Amino acid sequence: METAKSINPATGEQIAEYNRISTKEAENKVAKANEVYQTWRNKNFEERAKLMHKLADVLEDNKEEYAQLATKEMGKIIGQSRGEVEKCANICRYYADNAAELLADTNVDTEASKSYVTFQPIGVVLAVMPWNFPFYQVIRFAAPAIMAGNTGVLKHASNVQGCAFALEEAFEKAGFPKGIFANLNIGSDAVKAVIENKHIKAVTLTGSEPAGRSVASIAGENLKKTVMELGGSDAYIILEDADLEEATDLATFGRLQNNGQTCIAAKRFVVLDEIYDDFLTIFTKKMKDKKMGEPTEKDTFLGPMARKDLRDELHEQVGKSVSQGARLVLGGNIPDSNGAYYPATILAEVKPGMEAFDNELFGPVASVIKAKNEKHAIELANNSNYGLGSGVITGDKKRGEKVALQLEAGSSFVNKLVVSDPRLPFGGIKNSGYGRELSSYGIREFTNTKSIWID
Ligand code: NAP
Repeated sequence: METAKSINPATGEQIAEYNRISTKEAENKVAKANEVYQTWRNKNFEERAKLMHKLADVLEDNKEEYAQLATKEMGKIIGQSRGEVEKCANICRYYADNAAELLADTNVDTEASKSYVTFQPIGVVLAVMPWNFPFYQVIRFAAPAIMAGNTGVLKHASNVQGCAFALEEAFEKAGFPKGIFANLNIGSDAVKAVIENKHIKAVTLTGSEPAGRSVASIAGENLKKTVMELGGSDAYIILEDADLEEATDLATFGRLQNNGQTCIAAKRFVVLDEIYDDFLTIFTKKMKDKKMGEPTEKDTFLGPMARKDLRDELHEQVGKSVSQGARLVLGGNIPDSNGAYYPATILAEVKPGMEAFDNELFGPVASVIKAKNEKHAIELANNSNYGLGSGVITGDKKRGEKVALQLEAGSSFVNKLVVSDPRLPFGGIKNSGYGRELSSYGIREFTNTKSIWID
């Protein structure tokens, strides 16, 4: 029987194996989610919120267990795994408390005696999710979708099936109807049949560009709505008036958090000529000082990458960039270890046309790019097929805002790393995808925006 294997990336040891389910079993889980939908859609917000608050409690009560599981399956340092579970609980509470208002009917003045827009649930939504935030990515979709009256099925990444089953169980522990959110342990080749299933009404995918293209095209053929949260190569512009200590602190955390595997990580640092050398010196020192090691140890800042094949792919990208003329300032070597470790790495003098400029480097590798002036920095930042997050570091907030407005991305933050916050929409443009998660924009993605007219 085919299985999904969980391998601890810190040691290379297999920790669990989960049997894949058959096409028939997947169909049954989708049918069950559709059956639950028939009653769940009629519950009012108060009833839904009660269970969503319970889910937040379950997540918090089991925080340590879930955090250890995430760390074992994908290598996130333990403090960040705990933070991820807390963030999930917060999102559940946010939508429990705010869904009714976010989805309230909107009156529109027309010639009718009464006319308004109402937001109704659509049915079972398929979520295809990545391993990098194995709890958070799922909850970011599930909490609003379920508060809106939908139900869901999950195709999680193959290397984090422990987290996937833990989430399915968490919904049950919270008292939700069984089957409202089911884990389908299937391979990516079995996703097509699920998308084509008549009960699936929409698909959301968070993951790489190739996965997004494949899933979006199958959904397109079937005329099913999709939301795509794909890769990024976020640029941060460091203006010459920036506080270099603050800029390099943000750069170091931004590049190394989650062992460098965050879609909205700061990946390309576009630094103005006047401060380029100083920035590089301080940044290199800070990156070098961060301890790489066992993700469960307290003083570790950088754990292993999630899988060895991903680490090897990243190393090839670094090699390619160097052969194209980038300067290796720090790291860039595969350590002698059974784990999927890769050191904090800096590539300088990165230019358009190089691998490190043109493509996403999904690991602890920073690309530093020199810009002649502010205008050139904006051009370089926008010279990308991606458009997820972006940032500006400056001593002048007004100037920062002006620059932020010119950056081609779904989010632009001034003097702060881009974060996903339930009060603000989150998503990308260009090859980073389309549609939005979070806030009122996210919760409405999987609703029928319906006009009502009473003459
Ligand atoms: P991935 O390889 O695309 O996998 C994501 C999910 O898609 C997994 O469940 C995977 O299943 C599945 N999948 C892969 N190929 C598929 C296909 N052809 N058809 C159907 N499903 C398919 O991505 P990843 O390596 O897990 O995650 C890293 C990428 O995700 C990066 O590019 C990152 O920037 C992006 N990301 C984006 C966001 C965002 O919010 N925009 C957030 C996090 C990550 P298997 O595991 O079974 O292959």
